[in-house]
Amino acid sequence: MTQTPAFIAGERVTGADSYENVDPADGHVIGEVLRGTAEHIDAAVAAARRAQPEWAATKPEHRADVAQAFAALVLENVEELARLDSEDTGKPISQARTDGQVTARYFTFYGRAIDSYYGLQLPVDPAFHVYTRREPLGVCGSVIAWNYPLQLFGRAVAPTVVTGNAVVLKPADETPRSAVRLAELAVEAGFPPGIINVVPGIGAEAGAALAAHPGIDHMGFVGSNAVGKLIAGSAADNVVPTTLELGGKSPHVVFPDADLDRVALFATKGILQNAGQTCSAGSRLLVHSSVEDELLERLRASFESTTLGPGSSDPDLGPLISRKQQDRVTGMVERASGRVVTGGTRPTGSSLGDGAYFSPTLIAGVEQDAEIFQEEVFGPVLVSRTFEDEDEAVALANGTDYALMAAVWSRDSSRVHRLAARIRAGQVYANAYGAGGGVEYPFGGFGKSGYGREKGYESLDAYTATKTVLVSL
Ligand code: NAD
Repeated sequence: MTQTPAFIAGERVTGADSYENVDPADGHVIGEVLRGTAEHIDAAVAAARRAQPEWAATKPEHRADVAQAFAALVLENVEELARLDSEDTGKPISQARTDGQVTARYFTFYGRAIDSYYGLQLPVDPAFHVYTRREPLGVCGSVIAWNYPLQLFGRAVAPTVVTGNAVVLKPADETPRSAVRLAELAVEAGFPPGIINVVPGIGAEAGAALAAHPGIDHMGFVGSNAVGKLIAGSAADNVVPTTLELGGKSPHVVFPDADLDRVALFATKGILQNAGQTCSAGSRLLVHSSVEDELLERLRASFESTTLGPGSSDPDLGPLISRKQQDRVTGMVERASGRVVTGGTRPTGSSLGDGAYFSPTLIAGVEQDAEIFQEEVFGPVLVSRTFEDEDEAVALANGTDYALMAAVWSRDSSRVHRLAARIRAGQVYANAYGAGGGVEYPFGGFGKSGYGREKGYESLDAYTATKTVLVSL
C-alpha cells in the first residue's frame, strides 16, 4: 500500500511509521498514512522559514496571480479531490465536490483582495509623515479538523499565503489526503516550494509538536474545545497569537409569524448536512409554543424522507466519521430526556449496519440544563424546546457556553434586528441558515466557540501585523 506522505519544501516525504486510514462507510482500510514526527515538523518549519522572505518580497499582484492559478487548478482537479474527502470522511460526493469549489473560492477571493489591501496614512502632525504597513507574520502553523478537509485548507491557507506568509499545516488524522494533494497542486500553480507544507499525523504527536514549535509566528486551530486549550497554551508559551475556531450549539429561534415550510427546509439542511458534523450546525430549535406541533410535524416528515448511504452513492446523509463518533452520538441520545419525535437509533440492515451511521434524530421537550441541550453532539441530532416570549427566547438562545451561529425566523423586521443585537453569536441569520461556504463573511465565535475571526477581510488582519512608520519632515 502506498503511504500518504508529508509535503515539505515541494517534495513528498515518506517515513518509517504509518497509521491506517479507514473508510467509515464500511470500516475498510483505505491506506497507510505517514505518522508525522517532531522531526518532520522541524523540517517543514525550516523549509517555510527559508522560503518566506523571498515570497513576502514579491508584489501583491504576483501573489494574486498565483492564488488565481491555484484556484483554477483546484477546480480542474475537483473530482479527484472530492473523491479523497468523500472516502476519508464518508460525506456524500456532491457535498465533497462543493467543498472543493469553496476551496477554490477562498483562493479567488483572497487573491483579489490582496491587490487592494493597504495600510493607512495618518496626517496628524504636519511635522511628520506617518503611515502604517501591514506586514506578514512569518510562518503560520495550522491544525484543522476532519469535517470539511478541503474547505478548512482553503480557509486557513489562502489568507495566510497571499499576505506573504508561509504555512505548515497538520490535517486531521482521519483526513490527510486532500491536504497533501492540494499542497502538490499549489507548487504546480506557482507557489514556491516551502510556502505551503503539509505534515500528516496524530494530533498529540505532529499537532502538538507544531503548536509548540518556536519557529511558528501564528497558530490557527479548528477543532474541539479541549484541544483548542492545549494549542493556545503551547502558543502562549512562545508568545504567539492564536485563532481558535471551536464548537457550537447554534439555535434556530422560530416565532409564530415565520414561514414554517422554509424553517423546516433550512433547519433540516442545517443539522443533517455532513451528518451533523458541522461546527455551525443548527442543533437547537427554540420554537414559540403556538407553532411547535406544526413545525415538529414538518421536520419529522423532512427527516424521515432523507436517504442514508456511503458517500459514493451520493445520499443526503453519509456515515459519521468513525465508530467512536457513532458511540458518542448514541450515548448522548440514550442519556437525553425528552420525546424522540423521530430517529434516535443506528440504522441496521445489510449495508448500513457495517458503517458508522446514525438516523436523523429529533428530540422535543428538552430541558435547558440537559446535556443534549448544552453540549455539541456532532451528529444528526436536533433538540427542541418552546418559549413564550421574546425575552425567554433570547435567554434560551444565549443559554449555553457556545456562541457561534444563530438564526431568527420572523417576518417582523424590527424583531429580527432587535434579536440580532441581543443574541450572542459570531453570525446571525434571519430567515435563512448558512451561506454556502460564506468565504466573504467574517466567521468565528464568542465564549467557548473560540476567538478571532476567519473568512472575509478580517482574516487578512489576523495574518498580518501593523507597523507604523514615523518620518520627521
Ligand atoms: P479535535 O480537537 O479532536 O481535532 C482537531 C485537530 O486537532 C486534528 O487535526 C487533531 O489531529 C488535532 N489534535 C488533537 N489533539 C491534539 C493535540 N494534543 N495537540 C495538537 N493537535 C491536536 O477535534 P475533532 O473532533 O477532530 O473535530 C470536531 C470539533 O471541531 C468539533 O468540536 C467542531 O465543532 C470543531 N470544529 C469547529 C469549526 C469552526 O470553524 N468553529 C470547524 C470545524 C470543526
